[in-house]
Amino acid sequence: MKDGFVALVGAGPGDKGLITLRGAELLSQADVVVYDRLVSEEIIKMIPPEAEKIDVGKENKFHPVKQEEINRILLKKSLEGNTVIRLKGGDPFVFGRGGEELELLYENNIPFEVVPGITSAVAALCYGGIPATHRDFCSSLHIITGHAREGGQLSIPFQELKELNGTLVFLMGLSSLSYLMKGLINAGMDKDMPAAIVENGTRPNQRKLVATVGTLEQKALEMGIKSPAIIAVGKVCTLSEKFSWFMKKPLFGTKILVTRPKASSGTLVEKLRQLGAEPVEYPCIEVVPIPENEELYRACENLSEYGWILFTSKNGIQIFFDYLNSKGLDARFLANIKIGTVGSQTARALKEVGLISDFTPEIFDGSHLAQGIAEIIGKNEKVLICDAAIASDDIVNILKSNNIKFDRVPLYHTNYINENSDEIRKLIVDGELNYITFTSASTVEGFITSMKDTPLESLTAVCIGNQTADAADKYNLRYVVAEKSTIDSMIDKLLKMGGGIIDD
Ligand code: SAH
Repeated sequence: MKDGFVALVGAGPGDKGLITLRGAELLSQADVVVYDRLVSEEIIKMIPPEAEKIDVGKENKFHPVKQEEINRILLKKSLEGNTVIRLKGGDPFVFGRGGEELELLYENNIPFEVVPGITSAVAALCYGGIPATHRDFCSSLHIITGHAREGGQLSIPFQELKELNGTLVFLMGLSSLSYLMKGLINAGMDKDMPAAIVENGTRPNQRKLVATVGTLEQKALEMGIKSPAIIAVGKVCTLSEKFSWFMKKPLFGTKILVTRPKASSGTLVEKLRQLGAEPVEYPCIEVVPIPENEELYRACENLSEYGWILFTSKNGIQIFFDYLNSKGLDARFLANIKIGTVGSQTARALKEVGLISDFTPEIFDGSHLAQGIAEIIGKNEKVLICDAAIASDDIVNILKSNNIKFDRVPLYHTNYINENSDEIRKLIVDGELNYITFTSASTVEGFITSMKDTPLESLTAVCIGNQTADAADKYNLRYVVAEKSTIDSMIDKLLKMGGGIIDD
């Protein structure tokens, strides 16, 4: 049995870009991950699928798993020889009870490591556009807990804090907000001293409130501010409007459903996130290679019959080459054949296997691919179409009407899936979803199938191309179509609509 080991890892405040490289590296090696409520969904998604996940989420006054029990879990799992990663929000030692979790490990000679994290005290300020210190305003930063020990009384040296003239940051302070602000005012702090709250700092649902020590509590009540939130007091808060950058991102505050299969959703999800949107992944289809695909085997045996192969998706290319590789063959097998691809992504996938596409239409769809091929194909050249079992007949019809000989070999089935559809339905009914992205007609079909009787009038769909838009139209969805059939062009469309205005 290998030796057990525990790493206490700071997960940062939420944004997945804010975990350290060391933290992410350790996380990727985890056998067991023990995490709290403050660890964001984005970071939880980074946990390797094979690792055991233990949620010991705890919040103010609500401890589903007691600290002693967490300590015991860490000990037990490490004694079993596991690499145990204890993920904690922010920094493990900034009000994280990290020290307590190490005691039992120390007593039992379990090797451990601690990886610092970016504390919310600094990060939430930063994402709120508030510099923690600024030479013109203050020269110190103080991080204070606003939460008393269980059974204890909160006792804060307000007088001393007031005299420091620094930036004060309170964590876990919402339930004692009134006590904190009154305490500062009673200690002589000007009630017009700027103060701010950043709720869900660094996350797509971040909210910010800038007021004064005198008005903060009332305004927080009006806004319904909830935990987790940091409270900041100090003149630096006045810079918040000027330096606000995160909440000014063009798609900040928009929730966008991504319906592509998981394996290919990465680029779109990442780009949306960069622009400040909150992408919600809801894969509506999955691609399953056709097993025992006799037609494919036959076509490959007789490949010299064909002048062209047409690929209509990245998936098709992957499945085709997986098959060739399984037979000990590679790209050289296609040396004497020309290849057409439906769009730039498919052409890129082909390049990844070492081949350059001979033809990609300017408009990325099956009709334009077939039309283009019809114009350049040599006399008597036969075409092999490699596509999806549910593909439309556009290519076939155009080749037929041009008297071009062809064989069509479907490579995969497209299954509709609907994991967590209840959650998504709720988002739609509550009007929380702004847009939905469709990158193929099949994602539209999959989505509609999974949504049953959900009213969809509130949604605007962004479709990658005309075929996808036709599918959306069939179900009376409100939609816009990207100018070019690319992910970037879909994003351009979203940026134009921004606040939800459709201009075409
Ligand atoms: N170790 C953590 C703090 C744990 S105490 C850290 O270094 O950040 C828990 C408190 O942290 C919460 O009550 C809240 O005040 C603050 N907090 C944690 N994550 C936050 C976030 N994303 N936005 C705002 N405050 C946060």
